[in-house]
This record gives sequence, structure tokens and C-alpha cells, in this order.
Amino acid sequence: MSDLVLDKSKTMIDPFGRIVDYLRISVTDRCDFRCTYCMSENMTFLPKKDLLTLEELERLCSVFIDKGVRKLRLTGGEPLVRKNIMQLINALGRKIDEGTLDELTLTTNGSQLQRFAKDLYAAGMRRINVSLDTLDADKFKEITRWGDLNRVLAGIDAALEAGLKVKINAVALKDFNGHELPEMLRWAHSKGMDMTIIETMPMGEIDEDRTDQYLPLSQVRKDLSQEFTLEDIPYKTGGPARYVELKETGGRLGFITPLTHNFCESCNRVRLTCTGTLYLCLGQDDAADLRAPLRASSDNQLTADAIDEAITRKPKGHDFIIDRTHKKPAVSRHMSVTGG
Ligand code: SAM
Ligand code: SF4
Repeated sequence: MSDLVLDKSKTMIDPFGRIVDYLRISVTDRCDFRCTYCMSENMTFLPKKDLLTLEELERLCSVFIDKGVRKLRLTGGEPLVRKNIMQLINALGRKIDEGTLDELTLTTNGSQLQRFAKDLYAAGMRRINVSLDTLDADKFKEITRWGDLNRVLAGIDAALEAGLKVKINAVALKDFNGHELPEMLRWAHSKGMDMTIIETMPMGEIDEDRTDQYLPLSQVRKDLSQEFTLEDIPYKTGGPARYVELKETGGRLGFITPLTHNFCESCNRVRLTCTGTLYLCLGQDDAADLRAPLRASSDNQLTADAIDEAITRKPKGHDFIIDRTHKKPAVSRHMSVTGG
């Protein structure tokens, strides 16, 4: 929050004194990919009848904005496969014009970007994150099960052409993409894109053993230091990444390290699912149902009260552990339910 004077009636502050001004919304838990670290091949999705309509999602976002949220990120599942999603994006974009919202962003797998890039920019979006774990077409197919690399690369180009700033997010996966990260960094930086590397998090049952996938970023950083000069920089995007600049490329690299370095002390966010469940932490099960109060009254007071109550329960942090003695995921829901 940049305002010098805090309006307490319009500010959400959790029990640990953290200001919550960032809402991530998973607009669908469905996806046109099946990334092996995110989903099992045969997924059971939330029943369609339980979904909030786009109008209800917009209304909920408005209540959060009234309560002090300044930044929204749409995620999923794959947000761009939700039917008529531009209706919601256009409505939220208007809040930037009105001055009630600072930023609207998106995390996407890039598969639909050729179709949507121009519309996203026109709606007021300026930055997006595209998830991409490899530049090798066969490996891309292997990790996403259903994805087509060329289509995603064309989508990234369409986004850049439309004027969107693109950040590439890659999950570090042992014996899969560690050796490829220098090449990906050179590629991203040559196109003016920042890149962020993420540790795998133990969320939801998948078909593989997470211990086999886990590659600590302390190791990644060590390896990258053999090829690049990494300079710590204070750059921040409102997210949990710690950034370095690569002297050789002049580009930025962020590390998101939920396991090797807990980032919860500066957490400013809460997460809403497409059925109106509010999760106070990505790595904890405690949640609040906002769908019932939203539907119980056309007035927003009930929902605002439910949000206030939920914020008093925001936990200090997550308890992610990946090792051979912890066979169960830290939380049973998949990342695609709460969004990344
Ligand atoms: N489908 C969109 C995408 O892939 O960008 C948005 C949703 S996806 C769940 C958001 C991010 O979460 C992606 O960058 C993905 O790589 C990451 N992700 C998914 N499961 C993860 C896990 N278990 N650990 C770490 N990151 C994960
Ligand atoms: Fe879909 Fe994104 Fe999960 Fe991959 S990471 S399966 S693209 S939601």
C-alpha cells in the first residue's frame, strides 16, 4: 500500500499486522493441460452447479475492492478457458479506469493467448505471467501431458506484440529442466521478459512422487552462478519472489522458495476459488465460504462481515515439507483449485 495515511475502515489487517491488499481469484479449476506436478491425469473437477457466475465473481471482487484490495490476479485452472471470461476481465478493467483498482493481472499457461492478447490489453491489463517449464517440444508434451509448445510460444509473441509485459514462470523439476534453465533465461531475457523459478509445493494427490520432482532453489542458484553473475536487487512486484539481475543478460530472475526459504512474513494476499471459498493461505486448509452470504442478500454487508471474520483467521504461514517421510500432500486440494 502506497498511501501515507491508512484508512482503517478500508484496510484489511490480519492478526500478524499484515495488510491484505491482494486477491487472487481462481476463476475455474479446469484446464486444457494436465501438468504432472499440478494435476493427476484423471481429475475430478468441482461440479459446475457450484460455480459462481461471472456476475457473482465480479460482485465479490467489488466487495474486496471496497475493503482495500488494490491488486487482482486471475488464475486457475486455466483462466482463459472459462466461458466468456472477457466479460469479467472487462468489468474488472473498468475499476482501474475508475481508480479503485491499481492492477489486474493474469497467470496463464499461454495456450489461448493468441486469441485473447489484444483484448486483455484493451481491458487494461498490462502484465501477465506465463507458465513454461521447458523450451523442448517433446519435454513440454511430457510435462503438460496435453500441451503444444508452439502454440504457447506463439501466444507469448502475441502477448508481447499486444504490449503486455510478460514474465515467464518455471517450476524447477529435478532431472527435468535444471540443465535447461540457463538457455531459458537467455531466451526470456532476449525478449525483454523477466523470469521466475518456483519450487514444487506439496498440494494435492498427483500420479508421481513429489520427492522425485523436488529440486531446491538453493541448488538451482548455485548451478546458475557457474554461468551467470547474479546480483541481488531490491526489485519487488508485490509477490513473494526475491530478485537478482543477471549481469550477462541484463535481465531479472526471481526465486520463489516456499520450501527452502519461508516467505510468509510478508504475505499480503488471500485466495478465492471459483465456488466462492476464501482460502487465507495457499498452504493451509482453513477457509471461509463467501458464496452463502453473497447469495443470501443483495446487500453486500453480509459478505463484507464474512470477509472481516475470515481475515482474523489468516494463519502465520504454511507448513510445506517434501521428504520421504511425508507421503501425504500438505493440503489435499490441488494448486488448480486455489490458483498459483
Ligand atoms: N494454468 C495457469 C498456469 O499454469 O499458469 C494458472 C494456474 S497454475 C495452478 C499457476 C502456477 O502454479 C503455474 O505457474 C504452475 O506451474 C504452478 N504450480 C502448479 N502446481 C504446482 C505445485 N505443486 N508446486 C509449485 N507450483 C505449482
Ligand atoms: Fe493447468 Fe496450470 Fe495446472 Fe498446468 S499448472 S495443469 S496449466 S492449472
